[in-house]
Amino acid sequence: AGRLHGKTAIVTSAGQGIGRAAAICMAKEGAKVWATDINAEALKTLAAEQAGIETFTLDVLKQDEVDAAAKRVGTPDILFNCSGYVHAGTLMETDEKAWDFSFDLNVKAHYRMMKAFMPGWLARGNGVIINMASAASSIKGVPNRFVYGATKAAVIGMTKALAADYTSKGIRVNAICPGTVDSPSLTERLKATGDYEAAKSAFISRQPMGRMARAEEIGMLVVYLASDEAAFVTGQTFVIDGGWSI
Ligand code: NAD
Repeated sequence: AGRLHGKTAIVTSAGQGIGRAAAICMAKEGAKVWATDINAEALKTLAAEQAGIETFTLDVLKQDEVDAAAKRVGTPDILFNCSGYVHAGTLMETDEKAWDFSFDLNVKAHYRMMKAFMPGWLARGNGVIINMASAASSIKGVPNRFVYGATKAAVIGMTKALAADYTSKGIRVNAICPGTVDSPSLTERLKATGDYEAAKSAFISRQPMGRMARAEEIGMLVVYLASDEAAFVTGQTFVIDGGWSI
């Protein structure tokens, strides 16, 4: 049997990148996975790619959709909050709209999801939450990641506060902090600089391992934290960055 045999999981923003990889990794380990995203096309290809994955569209910015998701899924064993958006810019390049949107998608969405599922976990006496943060947060100051870094530090703080309140109730919650991961949105950001190759080699040159992470490498950390192997692990931040933040 797989490491997540008999467990159910829900993943937000699972259409591409790390969320998609984590959904596949968890399904391969025997979990029944609900993969959600706003991109219905991406979800279709995901369900076709891997057995054990069911999908539905979920916009994590919308409270009514989050409530409907909780109704539909019931009380899953695992929630992986993966949603998040990278706003590129310094303080002076961050307007209020960018600030509010970043906090809504990167932080408040996690809050909405956790709150929707918490009553079920409390009633059952267990539940596992994995929150997507980033090494660009309270861990490391990164240029042009002003509001992004603020949101990801908020995810870490929220995760620790949640663990302080709910560990005694059987709920585990951890945050993961990747460095630079090869993903569709990263490719778009590199292209948006106007010189894809130069931007890519600049990203890689700041990596001590001389490469970015593969999304599956983050997916396997999610599997570990979701599994009973991590039964004694809570309230922590897991940096997985190939040595970027050393
Ligand atoms: P990505 O940015 O390529 O994909 C994001 C996904 O989110 C897309 O499938 C998109 O359709 C979905 N999405 C957008 N708005 C949504 C909404 N309102 N509701 C639900 N889904 C929505 O994926 P990625 O780069 O792997 O990033 C995923 C997470 O990992 C983010 O939180 C990001 O901040 C974090 N992260 C990424 C890296 C990296 O280098 N890629 C590093 C550290 C942390």
